[in-house]
Amino acid sequence: MIRKDVLIVGGGPSGSACAWRLRQLGMDCLILDKAAFPRQKTCAGWVTPDLFRLLKITPQDYPHSLTHFSAFEVAIKGVRFRLPTHQYAIRRIEFDNWLLHYAGVPCKTHHVERIIHRDSSFIVDGLYEAPFIVGAGGTHCPVRRSFFAQNDGNLEKGLIIAKEEEFPYTFRDERCHLWFFEDGLPGYAWYIPKKGGFLNVGIGGSAARLKANGQTLNQHWEYLTGKLSDLGLVTDHQFQPQGYSYRLRHKKPEDRQGNAFLVGDALGLATLDMGEGIGPAIQSGLLAADSIVRGVAYDVQAISKFSFPSLIRLRK
Ligand SMILES: Cc1cc2nc3c(=O)[nH]c(=O)nc-3n(C[C@H](O)[C@H](O)[C@H](O)COP(=O)(O)OP(=O)(O)OC[C@H]3O[C@@H](n4cnc5c(N)ncnc54)[C@H](O)[C@@H]3O)c2cc1C
Repeated sequence: MIRKDVLIVGGGPSGSACAWRLRQLGMDCLILDKAAFPRQKTCAGWVTPDLFRLLKITPQDYPHSLTHFSAFEVAIKGVRFRLPTHQYAIRRIEFDNWLLHYAGVPCKTHHVERIIHRDSSFIVDGLYEAPFIVGAGGTHCPVRRSFFAQNDGNLEKGLIIAKEEEFPYTFRDERCHLWFFEDGLPGYAWYIPKKGGFLNVGIGGSAARLKANGQTLNQHWEYLTGKLSDLGLVTDHQFQPQGYSYRLRHKKPEDRQGNAFLVGDALGLATLDMGEGIGPAIQSGLLAADSIVRGVAYDVQAISKFSFPSLIRLRK
């Protein structure tokens, strides 16, 4: 049996950020992730400048491809305007691997299946043991499955289903385009060109509202790819999108059960207006680490529910 102070299930942004802070605070931790890094994650990769402040680096310190946008081209129900802003895009395959190494905590490739709580210890698959466990395993996190309520109807209300593809592309338009509520989509679609010649296009919307409207995400994906072709943004590509789901911020998330903590998508923290999940994942990881070491309350209410304030902030 391998014994640690803290076991972290999931090495995405929430798990790595938590591990980074725990290591700084002198804890001996281990990350368990079913994927070998670098691994791809379905995500547009839009990040706000706040993210770099949270990780105590500047954008210039980030060693991989980082795209800066000084405006978003927005359409809301067909009404188009330019939103001056100050935002970035990363590639998740690079960013998550970088953050995992930045955390400086060992990561074992292991698919977590069975977690039990016995004699004040969490035991994972009979192999790893610790008095604290952090569930950072995303939407289907096994820590959530093992120790937290599963049948909260509010969770379904906030479920976002999404489809996305990131692919090498010689794009002609370097601007970031966002289409909100287009063709009745209860959500938005995006076109994000990235440094290094990659393009990310995708679509996300409320599962409950799509169902109530008798629509499917696939229909909206067809609209989107048709539009991209009509606008001359993507004309010669055979799309092969990946699907994924995640949860928007819940009013009173059940974030802790004794010494078991949930962070990031395992908890459901994406912002209510933009579905931004990376920043909240990192913030929750840091808060959970502080709570474990300093014994302070784990209070995710401190994390903003909305992205809009950071979208209209023009400061670098
Ligand atoms: C299509 C799409 C687009 C998005 N676009 C954006 C965006 O542009 N900006 C933004 O801020 N947010 C975006 N999000 C949300 C964002 O991707 C998530 O909120 C963020 O990844 C949450 O990080 P996390 O660390 O909690 O979980 P994840 O990044 O999902 O990491 C979870 C980790 O846990 C591991 N894991 C899972 N199960 C197990 C297991 N049983 N055993 C071991 N390991 C396990 C996985 O391999 C994974 O590495 C998007 C989401 C989607 C689906």
